[in-house]
Parts: sequence; structure tokens; C-alpha cells
Amino acid sequence: MNYNIDFDIASAAICSVILLFSLLRFTANTLSNGKYCTLTVALLFGAILDAVTGWTNTGAYVIPVGLNVALNTLFFVVSLFAGYTYQRYVSVFIFQTKKHNLNDKIGDVIAILYFAFLIANIFTGMLFYFEDGSYCFGPLHNFGFYIPGYYMLNGFIMAIVYRKKLKPKQLFAIMFFGPCSLIGMLLQMLFFPNILVTYICSTFGCMALLFVIETPDYAKLMKTMSELEKARQEAEVATRAKSDFLAKMSHELRTPMNAVLGMNEMILRESTDNNVIGYAGQVKAAGAVLLSTINDILDFSKIESGKLEIINSEYSLKKMILDCKNLIENRAQEKALEFSIHNDEQLPSVLIGDEMRIRQVIINLLTNAVKYTEKGSIRLDVGMTSIEEPDIVILKISVTDTGMGISENNLPKIFSSFERLEAGLVKTIEGTGLGLSITKQLLDLMGGTVSVESMPGRGSCFTVSLPQKISDRVPVGLIVKAAEKPGKREKYAPLYVYPEARFLVVDDVKTNLVVLTALLKKTEASIDKAESGFEALKLIEANRYDIIFMDHMMPAMDGIETMKRIKSMENNPNASVPIIALTANAVNGAEKMYIEAGFDGYLSKPIGADELEHEISKYMNSREQ
Ligand code: ADP
Repeated sequence: MNYNIDFDIASAAICSVILLFSLLRFTANTLSNGKYCTLTVALLFGAILDAVTGWTNTGAYVIPVGLNVALNTLFFVVSLFAGYTYQRYVSVFIFQTKKHNLNDKIGDVIAILYFAFLIANIFTGMLFYFEDGSYCFGPLHNFGFYIPGYYMLNGFIMAIVYRKKLKPKQLFAIMFFGPCSLIGMLLQMLFFPNILVTYICSTFGCMALLFVIETPDYAKLMKTMSELEKARQEAEVATRAKSDFLAKMSHELRTPMNAVLGMNEMILRESTDNNVIGYAGQVKAAGAVLLSTINDILDFSKIESGKLEIINSEYSLKKMILDCKNLIENRAQEKALEFSIHNDEQLPSVLIGDEMRIRQVIINLLTNAVKYTEKGSIRLDVGMTSIEEPDIVILKISVTDTGMGISENNLPKIFSSFERLEAGLVKTIEGTGLGLSITKQLLDLMGGTVSVESMPGRGSCFTVSLPQKISDRVPVGLIVKAAEKPGKREKYAPLYVYPEARFLVVDDVKTNLVVLTALLKKTEASIDKAESGFEALKLIEANRYDIIFMDHMMPAMDGIETMKRIKSMENNPNASVPIIALTANAVNGAEKMYIEAGFDGYLSKPIGADELEHEISKYMNSREQ
């Protein structure tokens, strides 16, 4: 007989692809995954052996009879194995266990008996035999179909009996495999014995199992993925909304704070009643805490949403350290703490980095040192470790105090957010537990580290290590000449007076005008006020000013536009007058933004009296030279 093996070749090809796919995709973590792979292997080898024996059994291709008998016997063994594996697959899938139940055990016995029958066939020829080099059917040849057919039918019936344990799609796929294979066998057995279609029919069933049961539900997967994407977008919108809200709130809070702290400063300066000065001092301290909390929360939320950018630019190391000194020494003096700064004189004078953030790190550490120290001293050391790369210096900045210290088991916790230690001890000291967490995260962003050593009751030493690019290697020299002596806060006295000078203050909020005018009063300069950009332009045409202080957010014409118009006005007596931006916008990069827009300086609200004086003296002194 001439066999047509085309369907077997197709079946082997499909099974190879399924097997490859299954091995690559499955993690074999479900019980049925493993059995399904075995079933595919059985079908693959069955199809190959069916094709090979179909070819060798055809008279034209005679191979030694012994080999042909062996190949045919192997084919029947693999067919038995395919049927048996299908029944086991159904059983494992329904009962979710590899244990053999009674039905499986009957299947095991039948498999053993049939296997023995196949071996015996080599001698008895009951199933098949060879005569004159040709393949001949034995009297029990149809057993070759009946036994695998038994397993198919068994799986089919099992699926029906236990249909309640299966989802409709699963039931369909399992039931589809059985009849598919049975139809193949019947077609071949009854109608065209020379066309080998059994395996291709089983392969179709195998594909149904793959797509319905063994691979995830793609439609569901896609739906889940699109839900996840939607949730991600919503979360992003929410984070953006939170950041915008915080930036807005920080702006809104700063504006009234400007009035509160500014007016309070006037009370401190002008009052002669010691009680009132005492109350105002409390307001000032509480205001400073509130302001630093607003800043911390803004920074924290920005770091959290990944929006905090590190903006590197050239800066003078000396100026940065002096800024820190100016901001902290009053607080140290108020607590009668000795504050000293020591530095390596060989440090390069100009570096490249984010000056504002480095200053923030140092101020955080110094503020904590002052907060948690009752007597003794605070010391700031600025040094460097050996320069490994030619253009990089590793700054070593340490802040040492003689304060309450931190116990050993609390040390690992202090850099976590909202973590405040020894609540009993520090509960009278204001704080949010955010400062050190922000410090650490800022240093992470800048490629630096922070570490701490502490002895409870003796003091702490925080050390920052931070790589910075060198812009100018000229040694910085001694930054602060001598250690500052502790002292009491002195009654306010202006640094300089400028009775000849004339300043213009532009702000649409009346209280802000009052605050700034009051803060400027002791400079003895004449002060003009404008409530809008238009009013400012009119005044500028008529008068000659020494400094213009300009609010940013104003209706109709904002500060930036007013500043640009002033600078571009023709025949303007004030074309070269310094214009300083005043703003409650303290977000990261604000200063850079204002300077780039064309302003000569920047002061953030609430305006600190010291910074204001410092800024004025900068411009007035440079004019005088
Ligand atoms: P806080 O706003 O509470 O100061 P920080 O994050 O700055 O938050 O500090 C976290 C905790 O670490 C503080 O509550 C305090 O217990 C401890 N701590 C920080 N610096 C010092 C220091 N110099 N001396 C003693 N304890 C400190």
C-alpha cells in the first residue's frame, strides 16, 4: 500500500512550533502546563513515526524487516503514550493533582497490558507483520486504534461528568480534542486507510487546548494592561496636580507670611517695650519654623515626584559658606552657642554644582546642630579628600555640635522621612522629621553621601562627602578669620544709611508695599510706591532711582514685562538702574529664571531684613566705587 504522509509532516511541523512556543512561554508553574508539553512531545514523535513508517512500509522503500518491525512497534508505543497522556492531562486539569485516581489506575493497567501485547506482536503478528517485505494487518490490527481511542473517549467522558469544575471554554477545548482525534482514527480506519490523518486531527485538538486553556486569556490580559495604563496616567495627573497644588500653596502662604514677618520685624525694631519685643521675638521664631516647614514640604513632594532638578552652575565656595554663616550665626548667638568655621585653605575657589542645594544641605545640618544643642559649640569644617580625577574635588563638609546626641539604635533611622527621635527629648523642639531625609535625597541626586557619628549627651558629627567640578583652582584661602564669640542679640541697627538715595517699590498688594517700605525706612532713602506696572512706568519717566524693587505676579502687566519695558525705554534716565525681583515663587530654579529674564537680583518673600540689606549694599556700594 502507498501511504500519503503529507498530513503527518504538517502535524509534526505544527507540533514542533507549539512545543517551542510552550517551552519558551510557559513557566511550567501550573500542573497542566507540564502535562500539556508531554502531550505535544507525544504527538510530535507520533506524527514523525507515523510518517516514517508510512514511508518505510511502502514497498518501494525496503529497509531490513527487523528495523521496520522495531519502528512500527515504536510507533504504536508512542500512539499509546499520546492517548494515555491526554487522559492524564484531563485528569490533572480537572482534579488539580498528579495523584492517580481509580480511573487513572485502570488506564495504567490497560497501558501496561497493551504495551505487553505490542512486544508480543513482534512474535505473534497479531497487530501487524511483514510478508515479502510488505506491511500486513494482523487479525487484531484495529487494536492499534481502539486503545488510544479508549483514552480519548475516557478524557471526553471525564470532561462531561466533571463539567461543573470547568469553565465552558475549557470544557469545549477538552471535548474538542477527543472527538478530533477519534474522527481522525475513524476516517483512517474506515474510509481511507492509506491517508494518514489521525495525527493532524489530534494536532488541531492540541491547538485548541493551547489557545483556550494553556495560554493566558489574551483579551483579559489586554484589558488589564489598558486598565493599568489608565491607572498610571491618572496617577501621573494626580501627582502633577499635587505638585502644582503645593507650589501654589507655597506661593499663597508666603505672601501673607511676608506681611506677618515684615510687620513683626518693624515691631522688633521700633518697640521700646521689652514685653512686646519678647512677644515679637516669639512670633519671629515661630514664623521661621513655619517658613522652613513650607519649604521642606515643597521640596519633599518635588523629590517624591522626581521633579526636583539639580541645576549646576559656577559658584564661589567662599560666598556660599559665608551665606551659610550669615543665616546661622544669629540663631547660634541667640542660644549663646559658639559658632566657628574652619576650612582647608587650598580648596579651589570656584566650583561647578548646584549652589542653592548644597547651601540647603549645609543649612539643614547647621540648623539641626543649633536646634539640638543647648550649650557649647557648633563647628563647620570644609575640607577635601585627595583629588582623583583632575577636574573633580571631593568636598568633605562636617558639622559638629556638643548637643544631646543620638543613641546608637536610633542612628539608622534618622534619615527616614517624618522620623523624629526620642520624642520625649525633642518634643519641645519644632520639627517635621523631613530635614535629614531631604538632605540625604538631595545628596543622592548630586552624587554625594552623608554619614553621622554621635554620642548621646556629648554631641553629633554629620559628615557630607560631595564631588564637585573645579572651575578655578586658585586656593580659596581662609574663609572666616576668627571664631565668633557668643553674644546676645543686639537691638537692630541698620548696616548702612543712604539718605541721598531714592528707591521705587512696585507691588499690587498694599500690605506688601507697607512691609517693604517699613523695612527700607531705616536706610533713610526716599521711597516711592507703585501699585501696578503702568504706575511704575509713569514714575520712572519722571524720576531718577537708585534701585527698583519689582513684584512678579501683578495683574495686567506683570513684573517681568514691566522690567523689560523699563530696560528698553528710550531716553530713560533709569535704563541702567538695578531691578530686583520680589516674589513668593520659591520653587527650584526661580532665581536662575529671574536672572535669565533680565532682573539684576532676586529676593524671595517673605523678605528677610538681612538679605534685603545685603542686596541693597551690594548695589549701592558698587555704584559708589
Ligand atoms: P526635624 O525636623 O525633627 O529636625 P530632621 O530630619 O532634621 O527632622 O532630623 C530627624 C531627627 O534626627 C530629629 O528629630 C532629631 O531627633 C535627630 N537629629 C538630627 N540632627 C541632630 C543633632 N544635630 N543632634 C541630635 N539629634 C539630631
